[in-house]
Amino acid sequence: MNIIVLIKQVPNTSDVKLDPKTGNLVREGIESIINPDDLHAVETALRIREVLTGTVTVMSMGPRQAIDAITEAMGMGADRGVLLCDKAFAGADTWATAFTLGKGIEKIRTYDLVICGRQAIDGDTAQIGPQVADFLGLTQVTYVYDLEKIDVQSMVVKRRVEEGSQRVRCRFPALVTVLKEIGKPRYPVMGKLIGACRDKAPIKIWNAADIGVVTSEVGFEGSLTHVVKTFAPKFERKGELLEGDPATAVGSLMGKLRENRLI
Ligand SMILES: Cc1cc2nc3c(=O)[nH]c(=O)nc-3n(C[C@H](O)[C@H](O)[C@H](O)COP(=O)(O)OP(=O)(O)OC[C@H]3O[C@@H](n4cnc5c(N)ncnc54)[C@H](O)[C@@H]3O)c2cc1C
Repeated sequence: MNIIVLIKQVPNTSDVKLDPKTGNLVREGIESIINPDDLHAVETALRIREVLTGTVTVMSMGPRQAIDAITEAMGMGADRGVLLCDKAFAGADTWATAFTLGKGIEKIRTYDLVICGRQAIDGDTAQIGPQVADFLGLTQVTYVYDLEKIDVQSMVVKRRVEEGSQRVRCRFPALVTVLKEIGKPRYPVMGKLIGACRDKAPIKIWNAADIGVVTSEVGFEGSLTHVVKTFAPKFERKGELLEGDPATAVGSLMGKLRENRLI
């Protein structure tokens, strides 16, 4: 069973701050981590490999520093990693990101299952998994929280839907996006981490030419959407001091709350 896990390196914060002048994400002073959902995706792949044997490959598209995320996943037990890294990939919207990841996956060729996290904590769109599946023409099952049964040909999973759950059987090749309930991720093992840091051979870095794409298809140029302006909504607090004796102040407060339909 050959599994590819897509992992994204993200800033370690859910409190995303934007530079008011440039509209860009402020990354200074914020450490980078593997997107939390993606740790569960790696864990799922490792558990499947424990049962069915095979290989787990982690793949990321990002700047060179994303190699740290891949190294960490290899410390958890992944067999090898691929970083899609090229200046041409910068400024990608979700379509261009999914296209690039899809081309990277196509280059690997032999795989049965692609596993993604449900959502990245920075971009937050939850679009990449479904878009990669669509690009590769794969069966997709999203919001998976339980892997009930698996063999080399198919698996039975439970997925979250608005009204409850669905039990789904799907044949391979397929792509799934997983929720954190699927399983607690293991910690990286020191020995494996050191091995991944020392022996960079299992981590490949592929540029645009390696995956057979040209600049106009990827990154900013290949994006179908472009951000015109980014801004954080402004919240203004208004304060009013109710003076006088407590009974009058409370009466006045109740009146204002009723007036504003708050009680
Ligand atoms: C119009 C537009 C313009 C943008 N411009 C820029 C820009 O200039 N610079 C910039 O940095 N970003 C930009 N982005 C954000 C960028 O497109 C997204 O961060 C990226 O496409 C991933 O989407 P997401 O973060 O919403 O991931 P989600 O769809 O929420 O992620 C779901 C899962 O997909 C996988 N995944 C997501 N991204 C990756 C990845 N890179 N590698 C491997 N696996 C991944 C992971 O498994 C993850 O859990 C732009 C987005 C839009 C919509």
